Amino acid sequence: MPELPEMQALAERLDEALSGAPLEAIQPLQFAALKTVSPSPEDLRGRLLASVGRRGKFLVMTFDGGRRMLVHLSQGGRVDLEDPPRASRPRPAVARFCFAEGFPAVLVKEFGTERKAGWWVLAPGDDGPLAELGPEPDGDDFEHFVMTGSDGRRLHTLLRDQRTVAGIGRGYTDDILQRAHLSPFGPPNSLGPAERRRLFHAVRDVLLAALEGERTRSGGLPTKLGDRFLVHRRVGEPCPECATVLARVSYESYELVYCPRCQTGGKLLADRRMSRLLR
Ligand SMILES: [Zn+2]
Repeated sequence: MPELPEMQALAERLDEALSGAPLEAIQPLQFAALKTVSPSPEDLRGRLLASVGRRGKFLVMTFDGGRRMLVHLSQGGRVDLEDPPRASRPRPAVARFCFAEGFPAVLVKEFGTERKAGWWVLAPGDDGPLAELGPEPDGDDFEHFVMTGSDGRRLHTLLRDQRTVAGIGRGYTDDILQRAHLSPFGPPNSLGPAERRRLFHAVRDVLLAALEGERTRSGGLPTKLGDRFLVHRRVGEPCPECATVLARVSYESYELVYCPRCQTGGKLLADRRMSRLLR
């Protein structure tokens, strides 16, 4: 799933390729993907794309006059930058945004089966789903939350909660908590000042390093995003820092991965997959 670094770098590429371009046509290719009724996407036709940015995991396309279009890629949404634009109706696809001659088109595709990609058209001043988002991870508000917060939820839950901090998902959460040497199950209200400081820096450092890597991509966002994690999805491999074998906790549709030496004082966290084997 694309998270902050992938979306930020994608927004930068789209801004570079398309800002200043008049939008000529919108092809909705999947009925349920458009999450707003009014304003109509047709209201954007002929307007100049002023800029492309990011908030949380949303792409934010701002048009002259203040209307905005949001795109959220969710689990399996991806983006093709079509240069020159194509006319085919690929499946599965979400929508295609066509700009004036000489500019590439943006095709939003879908490879997921649940939690699918969506898009929104917002009137000036309407924040739509952005209103629900917590602070960005590099800002003062998030630093204040980490340094003083008394949240009792598990760190692994909290970092992925978009209302608490926007842009982080399961992948970078695993990498961040290993970097911070903190248990995925520890709550912030159990952390001392030094641990809190470590957590804040780990969030920033992991996301910045990933963003640097993402900035070497070109074009849209491909189906296979590559091996961008050091800990996530690497159960059974050596910890990148201490070479201890990485362990996991399995859930219905995903698993969290951690280093028992760096993060949990040598203790293995209960894993239902493991207990099934032992039964
Ligand atoms: Zn380790």
